[in-house]
Amino acid sequence: MVDCVFCRIVRGELPSVKLFEDDKVIAIKDINPQAPFHALVISKKHIESILEVEDGELIAHIFRVIKFLANKYNLAKKGFRVVNNCGHDGGQTIYHLHFHLMGGRPMDWPPG
Ligand code: AMP
Ligand code: ZN
Repeated sequence: MVDCVFCRIVRGELPSVKLFEDDKVIAIKDINPQAPFHALVISKKHIESILEVEDGELIAHIFRVIKFLANKYNLAKKGFRVVNNCGHDGGQTIYHLHFHLMGGRPMDWPPG
């Protein structure tokens, strides 16, 4: 059993505000939101980063869930941002595959 924060959330051992769940992923509210809407779409399987992904269908599935959430939470019309931080320089802090979905404000470019 992997002892990482997102594995523990997936197993229900840590609390989270769940926005979506199916057999492959969960989507939760980020505990430290950087936008009025900030969700994380997290694979149920412990995969350290996109570098370890072997199943391209999983990424396609995550993006279908992102599209579903963007529509459900009314982000689609004004726009939103999807982020994956990979590795040290990418700013990844939790080494369990997840994508950020942020919206509800205009985003800056380039990000910090
Ligand atoms: P990253 O830096 O891309 O690895 O993103 C990790 C994200 O997980 C950060 O935005 C954190 O705020 C968020 N986070 C950390 N712990 C929790 C938690 N227990 N519940 C929800 N989000 C969390
Ligand atoms: Zn994990």
